[in-house]
Amino acid sequence: MLEELRTHLQQELRIPAIRSERCVHAHIETASCRACVESCPKQAWHLDDDSLGIDVEACDGCGLCAPVCPQGAILHAHEPLLRQFNQTVVALAACEHTGLNGEGIMPCLHALGLHDLLKLYRQGVRGLMTSMGDCAQCPRQVNRTHLADVLTTVNAALTQRNYPAFTYQELPADAWQTQRQQLTPPRSQQQLSRRHFLRRGLQNAVQETLKWQGLLPQDSEKFLPPGTLLPKTTEPANLPYVPQIDSSCCDGCDACFNVCPHEVLFLDIDNPQYVIVAEQCTGCQICVDVCKPQAIHIEHWMIPQVTHLPLHYQRCRRCGVPFHRPVDYAANQNLCHICNQVNHYRNLFQVID
Ligand code: SF4
Ligand code: SF4
Repeated sequence: MLEELRTHLQQELRIPAIRSERCVHAHIETASCRACVESCPKQAWHLDDDSLGIDVEACDGCGLCAPVCPQGAILHAHEPLLRQFNQTVVALAACEHTGLNGEGIMPCLHALGLHDLLKLYRQGVRGLMTSMGDCAQCPRQVNRTHLADVLTTVNAALTQRNYPAFTYQELPADAWQTQRQQLTPPRSQQQLSRRHFLRRGLQNAVQETLKWQGLLPQDSEKFLPPGTLLPKTTEPANLPYVPQIDSSCCDGCDACFNVCPHEVLFLDIDNPQYVIVAEQCTGCQICVDVCKPQAIHIEHWMIPQVTHLPLHYQRCRRCGVPFHRPVDYAANQNLCHICNQVNHYRNLFQVID
């Protein structure tokens, strides 16, 4: 009985936690994102017109859906172990197929994504020590180079900003196990005084109780776009996601900035222009989903070239309402974005006829 309960709890803990309010489908009905559905090796996610859900019986807790979600709506429970190594802090993580268990063991190391690595970097981690099973034989059929690819991308961004890159060591399981036994927790954790330790424990207990009683929002921790986790630089540098607006076909309807959950795009009324803060973009693509003239798309890892798009204020020559539109809009006929698409006069005459 106890053994059954333990197995059940372990299985429950492996199931990713879901912040449904962050999912793009909670923002707009026409969102096209299916990243979680497509990444799942067990086909545990299902998405139809009415709902997005996970079959907890089918999910084996690999966590591969978590790094692909642009909105951080999926959280896996497994974290690398932080250890002091010479003068730096390293993150130790090993795959469960190494046969090891305990701290630092994850169902799949390829569940570590861009966001995880940048968060580790912000915590002071400067190296990764991993041990993997044989990815080629893994029944999950993952992309074997996923972790190495993400690491290469992150290191390129750090180097471009003149910050030290992550070091990386892939170890056999027994060598990794030895490091786990011998390395000590980071100095910052060791130096936590008894008083701080007790105070932090008390704060956590109060927060959890308030959350449990519904007095604090469950989602008090805001999802930070990866661009904001990168070290700051005064020089132009690549960002993970860069919205690009084609001003020759953007008709100024404002749909993109009305749906953007991260205030990447906004209208500066005083100096008529659209402002694009690419650092805040998560690449969720819902601006692309709502843009009728297909004037916006998201580029990956580039230096933002256009951060402001000057606008004209005009009055529609057909319906008379004021509207704005990029100054270099190609087919400027002085029609607002609604009259531009719908010929009310013709429709009206058709009704009268
Ligand atoms: S990947 Fe994230 S944003 Fe996309 S459908 Fe799944 S939960 Fe929603
Ligand atoms: S700009 Fe577009 S892709 Fe970027 S966060 Fe906003 S809605 Fe998502």
